[in-house]
Amino acid sequence: MTNIAFIGLGNMGNPMAANLVKAGLNVTGFDLMAENLETAKSHGLAVADSAADAVSGADVVITMLPAGRHVLSVYADILDKAPGGALLIDSSTIDVDSARKAHGLAAERGMLSVDAPVSGGVGGAEAGTLTFMAGGSDEAFKLAEPILDPMAGRIVHCGDGGAGQAAKICNNMILGISMIAAGEAFVLAEKLGLSHQALFDVASTSSGQCWSINTYCPVPGPVPTSPANNDYQPGFAAALMLKDLKLSQEAAQSSGAVTPLGASATQLYALFNAAGEGGTDFSGIINFLRGGEKN
Ligand code: NAD
Repeated sequence: MTNIAFIGLGNMGNPMAANLVKAGLNVTGFDLMAENLETAKSHGLAVADSAADAVSGADVVITMLPAGRHVLSVYADILDKAPGGALLIDSSTIDVDSARKAHGLAAERGMLSVDAPVSGGVGGAEAGTLTFMAGGSDEAFKLAEPILDPMAGRIVHCGDGGAGQAAKICNNMILGISMIAAGEAFVLAEKLGLSHQALFDVASTSSGQCWSINTYCPVPGPVPTSPANNDYQPGFAAALMLKDLKLSQEAAQSSGAVTPLGASATQLYALFNAAGEGGTDFSGIINFLRGGEKN
């Protein structure tokens, strides 16, 4: 049986690991928070006393941690403890530079590694329908694919090490910008006396169509499943959108890309978060654009 070490059992990691257990894999988990370890036990994971203990005897090590510094620090603790043939999969959303460093640390020890950030949120993690964006060699990707499968709806091999993180932050930069564009358009429509439904009926079938309007419409009514119909409960919290936009701007700076709309979106989400809305769904930025009033 394949032995998996799963490090980082938070909102995403715990349900992801639970799906690996359901698929019949042998999963040993570790997290710094005792309550997350209790939840993991209830999902059928074995729990270890440390990350280093979790990886001894592992065929695959999966990390699902907050940021690049956590991944690099865990890698520093575990790489000499894990078996030499272990495959490393990092599914955290982290900066591209740290992702490349993590691949470098693995390569120094002759280990195969994949960066495989996800989209789909906690709901997708629970349902096993996450989209994985993977970066790594063909050999590493081939080994990772069947391991990711029980947690995935879709798995895309984006290129070499770091390409998964690059795809994730480019996609989420589009999303942040397009949600602000959708919000601005609905607010302008209100000022012009145009109903939400009328703008939706036109924009969702015309050149303005995009996921932020067609699937995740930021006003209540036209798309019943969008968070706008549920008082903007996440969904995808504005704090996580800000995190991803900041990563896009770090990457733009270090690669010399010009992303003025990405920069503006980052500033607007920073203001929205500073107004105490970090736990609100990111589509709630429409209320901020409107001056705080819900419509
Ligand atoms: P979370 O904060 O709930 O979980 C992270 C876990 O890592 C925590 O339980 C924390 O205790 C643990 N941790 C931190 N340092 C550790 C260490 N040294 N050793 C062991 N455990 C450690 O975060 P989350 O929502 O599960 O997100 C995890 C990653 O997935 C993040 O990078 C996030 O950006 C990304 N992500 C989250 C979502 C979402 O909707 N929550 C969606 C897509 C991607």
